[in-house]
Amino acid sequence: MTRSHKPLSTQFLGLTILCASCSSAALAQDCPAGGDYALAIHGGAGVILRENLSAERDAEYRHALNTALDIGQDKLTAGASALDVVEAVIISLENDEKFNAGKGAVFSDAGINELDAAIMDGSDRNAGAAAGVTTVKNPITLARAVMDKSDHVMLQSQGAEDFAKAQGLEIVDKDYFYSHRRWKQLQAKQARLKQQKGSFNRWLEDPQTKYGTVGAVVKDSCGNLAAGTSTGGLTAKKFGRVGDTPIIGAGTYADSRYCAVSATGTGEFFIRATVARDICARQEFTSETIQQSSDHLIHKTLPEMGGDGGIIAIDNDGHIAFSFNTAGMYRGSVTPKARRVAIFKGETKALPHKK
Ligand code: ASP
Repeated sequence: MTRSHKPLSTQFLGLTILCASCSSAALAQDCPAGGDYALAIHGGAGVILRENLSAERDAEYRHALNTALDIGQDKLTAGASALDVVEAVIISLENDEKFNAGKGAVFSDAGINELDAAIMDGSDRNAGAAAGVTTVKNPITLARAVMDKSDHVMLQSQGAEDFAKAQGLEIVDKDYFYSHRRWKQLQAKQARLKQQKGSFNRWLEDPQTKYGTVGAVVKDSCGNLAAGTSTGGLTAKKFGRVGDTPIIGAGTYADSRYCAVSATGTGEFFIRATVARDICARQEFTSETIQQSSDHLIHKTLPEMGGDGGIIAIDNDGHIAFSFNTAGMYRGSVTPKARRVAIFKGETKALPHKK
């Protein structure tokens, strides 16, 4: 079967080569203002139950998701590139301490916030990622800089920090990432691990674990797709553990001919199942809808392996898919026609259009 392929932005490829030393913003190709677009975001999947979320907290999460959608929608309406929108939307979620990314990142076992992020441009499958950084305020901007300004795809730890400094990115004191809530979560998790004798599998299966990774997938009005994901990883992660988020093809993937995906969940399984790439490969090689390809990975492949989590995906026609096998996933989407924000399973109501 053959899918309809939208022409890719070859101009963008030219710009990337010519502008090796330009700023990230200058690399982005602008699209027609007022054209068609689609944006989906997530703020993590996990054991998110109605009975455990106060009305106030519920409203705060929905407000944060709506704010991120507003930022993305304003940019898309003005003709911003998918890549710029992914970065801007993720920065807004990284700066919000409710989410497990940037400011609100969880603690590792050593009591440090170690951040991972990736971004991918579907127009030329260029990508950038950073892992295990501890002082970079916005890891998604670092991932973008790795893509635009280095010869590499992924930088990690001290080298990534050095690169961020050299690029003039905002560096913060490690205390910037401290929050009492996350610290208490670390203490509680470590106590549970002790009780369970610290088995690696039980550590991953702990039902108390609430994820909060953030991600975005976009189709811009040029027809290009992009994806990005940012996270603090799993609470009490050890030994410099890196999850799926910064691994291209596992937690993040974009190819403008087929689809863009951002994932959240127990990263070890997403890495082993190459979830994000597999969804796009199913778009390439089968006649499935984007929802069917996503559901296959999330409701069949992952559970067979014992994995949990969810994804947001968008296909080259701008169709959006949400799929998760957990109790909830913070999520939202916006197109010129409709906006949705939801947290729990089964929430389908579209919200009135903003403008
Ligand atoms: N996937 C992330 C990781 O394993 C965690 C999450 O999505 O909450 O690092």
